[in-house]
Amino acid sequence: MAVHTEPLMNQADLLQRGLADLWAQDAELAGILDAEVARQHQVLSLVSSSCAVRPMTLAASASALVNVTAEGLPGRRYGGGCENVDLVEALAIRRARELFDAQYASVQSHSASNANYHVLTALLEPGDTLLGMGVKYGGHHTHGSSTSFAGIYYKAIRYGTTSAGVIDYDQVRKLALAHRPRIIMCGATAYSRVIDFQRFREIADEAGAILLADISHIAGLVATGRHPSPIDVAHVTTTCTHKQLMGPRGGLILSGQAANTKVPGLRTTFSRALDQAVYPRMQGAPAVNMIAAKAAALAYAKSTEFDRSMGRIRSTADEFASAFQAHDYEVVGGGSENHTVLIRLRGGITGAIAESALERCAIIVDKYRVPGETRPSLITSGLRIGTGSIAQRRIDPQGCRQIVDLICRILDSVRPISEQDYLLEPALREQFRLQTEAFCTAHPIAEYV
Ligand SMILES: *Cc1c(COP(=O)(O)O)cnc(C)c1O
Repeated sequence: MAVHTEPLMNQADLLQRGLADLWAQDAELAGILDAEVARQHQVLSLVSSSCAVRPMTLAASASALVNVTAEGLPGRRYGGGCENVDLVEALAIRRARELFDAQYASVQSHSASNANYHVLTALLEPGDTLLGMGVKYGGHHTHGSSTSFAGIYYKAIRYGTTSAGVIDYDQVRKLALAHRPRIIMCGATAYSRVIDFQRFREIADEAGAILLADISHIAGLVATGRHPSPIDVAHVTTTCTHKQLMGPRGGLILSGQAANTKVPGLRTTFSRALDQAVYPRMQGAPAVNMIAAKAAALAYAKSTEFDRSMGRIRSTADEFASAFQAHDYEVVGGGSENHTVLIRLRGGITGAIAESALERCAIIVDKYRVPGETRPSLITSGLRIGTGSIAQRRIDPQGCRQIVDLICRILDSVRPISEQDYLLEPALREQFRLQTEAFCTAHPIAEYV
C-alpha cells in the first residue's frame, strides 16, 4: 500500500492551490474575477448599501466547511462529522450576541430577505396582516410590497413618510389601530433619519402587534452605538451581514429581552419559533462556509478600527449633505442622521439620467424616489447616496467636497432630451471619468491595500 509522505493540505494550501488551478485551468472565469476587482478599485461607489469585504473575511468564506451538511443547530445535528462546524457556528452565534447585546442569534439565514421571510413564517399565519414601510417611501420590498412574498402571502398595509421625509408615526399609529396587524415592520432601505424604535414599540403595544426591526442598512451604526439599538425594544431584529458589517452575503436574526418569552397566541418562545422557521421550515443545511465568514466579520465589528470606520461613515454623510446644499441642491430632510443622503435633482434631470451619466463617469449611485415623487420608479427625481464605501477609502472633508463638486459639474454638463435620454459631450465625459479614476487611485480602498 502506498504511504503518503507529503503532509496533508491545510486551509492555506487549499486556497493557494485553488487560486493557482483557477488561473491555470479556467482563464475565462478567472479573467472576469480579476476584472471585477479592478472595477471596484477604479469606480467610486456611492451606493448606499455597498462596502468592501475584508480579504480575511473573504478567505474565511472559502473553506472545506462547504463540504459538510449540517442540518440543525450546534450540538443538535441530524448527521455526523459536525464537530468543527459546531465550533464555527457557536462562535458566530456568540459573536453576534456579544456585538448586539442580544439574548438570541440565528446565523443561518442566507440573506436578510430570507431572514425576514423566516421571521414572518415563524410568527404569522398566511393571510395575517402586517404593517410595513412602503417601498416608495424608502421601505424594503420584503416589508410588504406586492412583488414580494411579504405582500403575496400576507395582507400588507403600508405606511410612509411626511413631506419632510420623516416616518409619519401618527399615520403608523392610525393604521395600526385601524387594521390591528399581527406584526409591524420597521427599518428602511432609503431613509436618512434616526428610526424611533421606542415609538414603534409603543404603537405595537397599543395595537397588540409584534415588532420586527430590520437594521440591514444601519447595522454598523447600531453595533457601535451611533444609532439607537432595537434589540431590547423590538421583539425580533433582522439584518444582513454584507452592508455596514462588511461581511459575506447573509442574514442574522436577533432578539433581546423578548427572546425567551412566549410568542402571543403561540405555545412557544420567540427563540424556538425562530429556530424552527429557519430549519426545517424554510431552509435545509446552512452555508457553513458563510457562517465562518460571518464569524470573522462579527469579530472585526468589535474592533476600534471598525468603530472608526463607522465614525467616518457618519461624518462623511454630513460632509456630503452640506456640500450638496452649498451647490443649492435640496437634501431631503435637510441633512442626514445616518449614512444616507437623498438629493432632489433639478433642471429636468431625472434620477435615471443622473444615474446613467454618472456611471459613464465612473461614479456609481442609485436613482431614488423623493417625497412627493411624480415620476415612475424606473425614472424618479432623486439620487440616493451612501457613505459606506467612501468611508473605506478614508476620504477627508476636502475630498468629499471634491467628489460633490465633480458630481455637480457632471450633472451641469448633462442636456436632458427626455426622461431617460440625454447628451453628455464625449470629450467632457472622458475628462470626468479620468478625474474619477485619478481620485480612486489617490484614495484606494483601505481594506484592499
Ligand atoms: C438590503 C436590505 C434587505 C435585503 O438584504 P438581502 O440580504 O440582499 O436580501 C432587507 N432589508 C433591508 C431594510 C435592506 O436594506
